[in-house]
Amino acid sequence: MNGEKVVGVVGIAIDTRKLSPEERTVLGAWVSLLAIALVRAGLSSEAKQAAMLREADKLRTALFNSVSHELRTPLAAIMAAIYTLNDKAVAYGEQQRQQLLETIADASKRMERIIGNLLDTARMESGMLQLKLDWCDLEDVVSGALRRSREHTQNYLIKVEMAEDLPLIYADAALLEHVVLNLLDNAVKYSVEGSKIELQTALDANEVIVMVKDRGVGFKEADLPHLFDKFYRAGNTEKISGTGLGLAICKGIVDAHHGRIWAELRPDGGSIFAFALPVTLPEEKAGGKND
Ligand code: ADP
Repeated sequence: MNGEKVVGVVGIAIDTRKLSPEERTVLGAWVSLLAIALVRAGLSSEAKQAAMLREADKLRTALFNSVSHELRTPLAAIMAAIYTLNDKAVAYGEQQRQQLLETIADASKRMERIIGNLLDTARMESGMLQLKLDWCDLEDVVSGALRRSREHTQNYLIKVEMAEDLPLIYADAALLEHVVLNLLDNAVKYSVEGSKIELQTALDANEVIVMVKDRGVGFKEADLPHLFDKFYRAGNTEKISGTGLGLAICKGIVDAHHGRIWAELRPDGGSIFAFALPVTLPEEKAGGKND
């Protein structure tokens, strides 16, 4: 039995008569074949699992590298600016000092955003993202996001078109503002300064829709199914900093509201990122939306 192991036990029901030697030989051969098939199936599933683990490991390393790179860049900028400010040997004018302080502020904000995104992702994955639902006005949500993004959008041509008579929606206003802000930030990040960004709301059948349209770099048709995946970054935007978490978080928030989020390429250049939320009637809200 050296080197052999039991892969299974076969029971065969026979009547009271004894098996002939030929029957025993045939049965023995048949059971051996079965054993070989079982061993082979086991080995191939082990190999598959090992390959999957290797892939997961590769992916983890890639993600780790990209996030740590994204964090290290602003950190290096902060450290360099502080080092320069502290250098007693050089006398700086007020304008230079101000520029260095701005560098520190910008880089800190960038780090804060990346860490915020990582925390949001972890919260969402562990099911800890709780919706604070209440009746809210989409116009307030959109204006809130516009106000918060002003610092980034000031060099762009922002055109806002709000639909009239939008119904109130039963939703988490702060999280929805986060979604609009993220879409606006992306529109800015992936377009050139001075270009037009449109923010529109609409009411269609029983959905309210928010659309952010830009004239930026767009993406490839092949990216479309993956844009909302965690850590996914389209090839044409590799040189622009980012972690590929923002849209995944937006999708998580919109999904939690039973809505849908999507992207479209504009035929004449740029892209549209939009989401739609179901309009809830007051009597429906208790049943369907707070789960
Ligand atoms: P990040 O911007 O940090 O990379 P996101 O999750 O917000 O992460 O976006 C994922 C990817 O989707 C981006 O890397 C980019 O390739 C693409 N993308 C998002 N918004 C736009 C946009 N407005 N125009 C073109 N590509 C976009």
